[in-house]
Amino acid sequence: MSRHPASHQVVLIPGDGIGPEVTDAVRRILGAAGAPVEWVEGRAGLAALERGQDVLPRETMDAITRHQVALKGPCTTPIGEGFTSINVRLRKELDLYAAVRPVRNLDGVPTRFSGVDLVIVRENTEGLYSGIEATLADGVVTTTKVATEKACTRIARWGFRYARQRGRKKVTVFHKANIMKLTDGMFIRCARAVHDAEFAEIGYQEMIIDAGCMGLVQDPTRFDLLLLENLYGDVLSDLGAGLVGGLGVVPGANIGDQCAVFEAVHGSAPDIAGRNLANPLALLMMLNYLAETREDPACAESAQRVKDAYNQALAQGQKTRDLGGTLGTAEFAAAVVAHLA
Ligand code: NAD
Repeated sequence: MSRHPASHQVVLIPGDGIGPEVTDAVRRILGAAGAPVEWVEGRAGLAALERGQDVLPRETMDAITRHQVALKGPCTTPIGEGFTSINVRLRKELDLYAAVRPVRNLDGVPTRFSGVDLVIVRENTEGLYSGIEATLADGVVTTTKVATEKACTRIARWGFRYARQRGRKKVTVFHKANIMKLTDGMFIRCARAVHDAEFAEIGYQEMIIDAGCMGLVQDPTRFDLLLLENLYGDVLSDLGAGLVGGLGVVPGANIGDQCAVFEAVHGSAPDIAGRNLANPLALLMMLNYLAETREDPACAESAQRVKDAYNQALAQGQKTRDLGGTLGTAEFAAAVVAHLA
C-alpha cells in the first residue's frame, strides 16, 4: 500500500528464469517501503511466447512508451539459433541508446578490492549487435559491426554529461581502433571531439581494450567512468560485477530521450531458476535511479529507506548464497522488509 498520494506508473516485466522471483521480491520490498509506484504488468520473453504472443508484444512496447519507465527482469535468448534477443530489440526499438551500470563496493560484501566506484556507460544500439549476419559461402559466416557518427557522438555526449553532473573526474574509452580502424576509430574520434569541444575540464583517456582490461583487474580504483561501444560495454559490465561481488549486485539502466528501462546486469540464470536462490539486490537498486530521474522527493525518500534496509541486512550477514550467505530470495526480501520497520 502506498503511503504517498501520487504514484508513478511503472511497467513491470517479470521476464524469464529467475526474473519472476527477483521481481516478486522487489515488489514486496518496495510495497513495504511505501514506494510511490504503481505496477503495470507487461510481458516479454518466453512468458509472452508461451501465451502465444510475440516475444516482445506490441502492447508491452506501447505501455513502456506511455509510462516512460519500466523495470525488467532478465529475458532468455536462445544461443546460436532462434529469435533475436528481446533485450537488443527493446533497446533498439525504443532507442534506449545509453546503458549505464554503476559498479560499486557494497557495505557488507567484502571483495578483493575496496574503494571501487566505477560507472560503465555503454552504447546500446549498434556495434556488433546490429543483427546483420550473413552466410558468405559454405562454412563462411559474417557479422557486421556498425558505427555511425550520430550514435558515437550522442553516447559520448551522454557519457560526458553524466560525468559532469555526477562530479566524475575522468572518462576512459576502451577500444580496438588499432585493428578496427574504421568503426572503433570513429568511436574514439567522436569521443575526443565531444570532449575537446564541450567537456575539456573532465579528464579523458583512451586505452586499447586488452591493456585496459588488465589495468582494470589489477586496480579498478584507477578508473572512474568507462565509455564503451556495445559489445565491450556488455562484456565489461559482467567483469565489473565480478569486481564488487558478482552479477547479483550490479544494476543497469537503459536510457533514451523518451523512456528508460531498468534491469540488472545478470541474465535469466537458468541454472538456479525456480529454486529461491537468486539475489534480487540488483533490481532493488533500481529505485534509486527512478528517484533520480523522476525528481520526486517521495520516491527519493523510499529509495533511501530501501537502501538503508538492504545495507543493514548485508552488514548483519543476511545475504543470499551468491554473496556467501544462506538466505533464499524470499528470506532475503523478508530480512530487508524487517529492517524497513
Ligand atoms: P546469467 O547472468 O543468467 O548467469 C550467469 C551466472 O550468474 C549463473 O551461474 C547464475 O546462476 C548467476 N547469477 C546470475 N544472476 C544471479 C542472481 N541474481 N543471483 C545469484 N546468481 C546469479 O548469464 P547466462 O547464463 O550467460 O545467461 C542466461 C540467459 O540470460 C541467456 O539466455 C542470456 O541471453 C540471458 N541474458 C539476459 C540478459 C537481460 O535480460 N538483460 C542479460 C544477460 C543474459
